[in-house]
Amino acid sequence: MPRFRSDLSSIIPYQPGTPIEEAARQLGLTEIVKLASNENPLPPFPEVQDVVAAALAGANRYPDNECSELRAAVAAHLSVAADNLWFGNGSAALMMVTALGVGGPGTSVVYGWPSFGLYRIAAQTAFSERIEVPLDRDQRYDLPAMTAALRSDTTLVFVCNPNNPTGTHVDSDAVRDFVAALPDEVLVVVDEAYYEYVQAPEYGTALPLALEADNVLVSRTFSKVYGLAGLRCGYMVGHPETIRELRRVQAPFTVSSIAQAAATAALACRDRVAERVQRNAEALKLFGEELSGRGFDFAESVTNFVFMHPGARSEAFDAAMARNGIVVRPWAQGWVRVTVGTEADNAKFFAALDEVSASA
Ligand code: PMP
Repeated sequence: MPRFRSDLSSIIPYQPGTPIEEAARQLGLTEIVKLASNENPLPPFPEVQDVVAAALAGANRYPDNECSELRAAVAAHLSVAADNLWFGNGSAALMMVTALGVGGPGTSVVYGWPSFGLYRIAAQTAFSERIEVPLDRDQRYDLPAMTAALRSDTTLVFVCNPNNPTGTHVDSDAVRDFVAALPDEVLVVVDEAYYEYVQAPEYGTALPLALEADNVLVSRTFSKVYGLAGLRCGYMVGHPETIRELRRVQAPFTVSSIAQAAATAALACRDRVAERVQRNAEALKLFGEELSGRGFDFAESVTNFVFMHPGARSEAFDAAMARNGIVVRPWAQGWVRVTVGTEADNAKFFAALDEVSASA
């Protein structure tokens, strides 16, 4: 066996939601409703699929390492300069690179918990200590507690807003105050993977902060509302010098030419993205009604997923999900994260909840 890093076995690998094929095999069913990975339940827009097909013909060449066309499109979309942008094969990959760029022995990373599992892996990979700050009692990021948890060796902070797995958000004013109180040498990544879904009026992007200061990065992705999770493309917005430094440890050509073409085309479908956001908001409201109607405990979500607790009905819940081929994402202490699906998916989930209520 190779001689691995002495701490390698302490890193628990990222646990993705069970893929549809695997769930079908495990459950012995042919029809699976996957509500486990916060994906867009609808396929990429037809013109995006056409662009992907056309891009295949050029796949013998390496992709544009600067993602020039996509960069110009995102810059125009966000009204930022082209050199404020940094692209990667998923925003998760950029977070990993970020942790490597500011981490190392004798450093620490602060983030809320429960939150996106990659923060933990990124900190460990970078040889940084992990400081996991519990969410507040409404399952929101507890920014004052995070400020209090900062140490003199802290070099990186993740703020997941809205937060995965809880779907909760913190107000833009609170994020601004939190960032203003941070020492300049602490880099903060505001992870806005679900930004486009949020309709809460007091929620806002941290983009202006990322354009003002060189220690703030805002992270976004094409994996969620744009429906391109399978192609892997995400980006960060920040100060050009900060991005230039972090890119030293990024592998070349990480965004494929196909992903670049697809993301550029998807960005042009703004009207239909807005439709999907609206459809999600309506479905999310229905989720809330269906869950409270049946007396389930859940967190107030502004995203495309809901964090719920079946309570004493956990066993019946798991059994009903398995029986109906519905794959959700289990979390610690009996919590479950359920992604909002299509109308048909959601109806199946609600029907399964009826079975839970009937059997409990
Ligand atoms: N941030 C959060 C909060 C997420 O939930 C996810 C996806 N699960 C990501 C980032 C990663 O997205 P990407 O596909 O861009 O790597």
